[in-house]
Amino acid sequence: MSARPTLQIALPVPLPGCFDYLYTGDEPPSRGCRVQVSFGQRTLIGIVHGHGHSDYPKLKPVKAILDSDPIIPAELYALCERAARYYHYPLGEVLNDALPSLLRQGNDPQASQEKRWKLTERGQHVLDDQVKRAPRQLEALQVLREHPKGLSSAMLGALEVSPQALASLRNKGWAEQILLETPMNTAREVLAEPPLPANAEQRAAIHAIQDASGFIPFLLDGVTGSGKTEVYLQAMAPVLAAGKQVLVLVPEIGLTPQTVQRFRQRFNVPVITLHSGLTDRERLDNWLAARDGKARIIIGTRSAIFTPLSDPGLIIVDEAHDNSLKQQDGFRYHARDLATWRAQSLDIPVVLGSATPSLETLQLARDGRFSWLKLSRRATEQQRPHIEILDATLTPPNQPLLPTSLQAIKQCVSDGNQALVFINRRGYAPMILCGDCGWQAECKRCDSFLTWHRSENSLRCHHCDSQQRVPTHCPECGSSAIHEAGSGTEKLTELLEQSLPVPVIRVDRDATRRKGELDSKLATIRKGEPAVLVGTQMLAKGHHFPKLALVVILDMDAGFLSADFRGPEQAAQLLLQVAGRSGREGKGRVLLQSRHPDHQLLQLAASGDYPALASALLEERRMAALPPFGHLALFRCEAMTLGKAQSFLQELAIQQVAEGVNVLGPVPAPMERRAGRYRAQLLLQSHQRAPLHQTLEHLLATARSLPQARQCRWHVDVDPIDML
Ligand code: ADP
Ligand code: ZN
Ligand code: ZN
Repeated sequence: MSARPTLQIALPVPLPGCFDYLYTGDEPPSRGCRVQVSFGQRTLIGIVHGHGHSDYPKLKPVKAILDSDPIIPAELYALCERAARYYHYPLGEVLNDALPSLLRQGNDPQASQEKRWKLTERGQHVLDDQVKRAPRQLEALQVLREHPKGLSSAMLGALEVSPQALASLRNKGWAEQILLETPMNTAREVLAEPPLPANAEQRAAIHAIQDASGFIPFLLDGVTGSGKTEVYLQAMAPVLAAGKQVLVLVPEIGLTPQTVQRFRQRFNVPVITLHSGLTDRERLDNWLAARDGKARIIIGTRSAIFTPLSDPGLIIVDEAHDNSLKQQDGFRYHARDLATWRAQSLDIPVVLGSATPSLETLQLARDGRFSWLKLSRRATEQQRPHIEILDATLTPPNQPLLPTSLQAIKQCVSDGNQALVFINRRGYAPMILCGDCGWQAECKRCDSFLTWHRSENSLRCHHCDSQQRVPTHCPECGSSAIHEAGSGTEKLTELLEQSLPVPVIRVDRDATRRKGELDSKLATIRKGEPAVLVGTQMLAKGHHFPKLALVVILDMDAGFLSADFRGPEQAAQLLLQVAGRSGREGKGRVLLQSRHPDHQLLQLAASGDYPALASALLEERRMAALPPFGHLALFRCEAMTLGKAQSFLQELAIQQVAEGVNVLGPVPAPMERRAGRYRAQLLLQSHQRAPLHQTLEHLLATARSLPQARQCRWHVDVDPIDML
């Protein structure tokens, strides 16, 4: 039989390589177009990778071609290919992940025809008094007033605005429904407000970035409050004026709405955001606006690195040390590294900004492979507060705050300021135990203790989300002497409410679950009335609260003492980020309660000298051949028994590996059982990347062919950041 023309299709299935399908049309679709094919019993949407010929008799035909032009442009396709190779993840899955979900499902790449409600010219001048007898209409009017660009019916529904009230406003000629067009930039001047007068260090950084032609990677290493955002803004201005787009990656947009606001305020250009809070429709619309050049500034979380851009000019990664830039499941990529690759292939500059750069990035700067820009002092007149360590060894177990800390909080709020108490633990107490026999409430499915959430009267596992009732008697000995140990945000909030005359605002995942709750809490805090904030790391990053004059930090010891080699680095980053919230526009103070006040790394971190701490940690990493001096990849495996997980990895461990690659394990994971499954891991380590990748290739092929693979869930994590 003679060879017939085929298309090679990358499909979203957990198998490597592309799949051949027959294609009989004249002009075959280009690489990057979507097609529909049958795969087993299913119909899947895949992406054309190439064409060829095959004489294999059982090939199926392509069912439909969905795009006439590539939905994934060549530049982005190349990025996906490189990522698939580097992370050893199937190309079809990578390409699929790169698309907004409506496109994955086969929808047309059409901007929405959705209409939005807006106030009319007349409606904008209506006074509240004119509708005071119609409270629902008043509510609708107020909501529309707050959103001059208009809101979709879906968004209005989410805000519980009544459709009848909207109809009444329309009948009065005060509101209308219009088709939304993302405005093209018609203003001649891109600047909407004048820049701040930059200080000398900022000026040097701005000019270095502005003068870069072609690919130059920058590390903008600036202490908290040093005005990194101002540097981004001024460096962007000429890029935007030249008609180019800027892509900005941020850790979590929901947490720092004011950052997005600053970009919007500064420039007369359309700004879009891409993050998990959008509806599928909004996400597609924004994606198209970026691709078609209607959006000029694109701000998004890690997956925004896959946004197609019509005229890319600059990439910025803000808080580039942040772990949320690494995807921790499925396709485990690091958006910071992809940002650098993408800038390189686009031949444009990339800026990684951080007050506490990761050791990987710092080492690149030390080696001269990144251009190192430093901002060593705060942009405002304020000094950075230094961190006072308080010895917490003598606090009784159920008294989380030392008297000194409580006194400082009282003083702070009576001076009219705000204080932040940071504790990275949700719930009321992390442990429930029996005073008679020592029994502790543990998760039935994980090797972990249950956290008591008092407001909902349940015990919850923070690893698998399972819940239990709080027992009234000990299940082991029947005693009623059940009590809690330790404290979380809930207990601290209660304690502070009892001892202070000002509002206590709790910000953690539980206390911000409802839509709009986080925004309204942040807005209250920014108003600046005296208050105490109790929060987890949701409050640590990026916020600028002008009246915050005191930060009390509880329980950072675990990180510094952690067995994970990244523990001290991450603890120091978190410590300095939290401390950096204090005294941004006035005098500030930071208290760190520690049960290991003499710990050397903790002292170094608290001294605020991150460069010195980083040097010490880098030296340890060099000796142990850990990143950035050695490269790691982790095979993780989960099974119904530990034996199954280990024996699967053991088969891999005995394989031939490339020279220079060390294989460590298999060993049980630090948390051996999670959500009912046993976990083990195998670590590969090497000085050179090439032999590591070669070995991974071989081990992956072996793993796929092993019969045990069917009884396990397993994956590879290249450059893992979480060893647990
Ligand atoms: P970072 O991102 O480095 O933590 P920000 O960009 O949030 O710091 O800046 C901290 C504060 O300093 C902000 O209120 C900002 O408006 C202000 N700021 C930045 N640059 C200047 C400057 N050159 N002159 C005066 N204020 C500045
Ligand atoms: Zn007991
Ligand atoms: Zn659990």
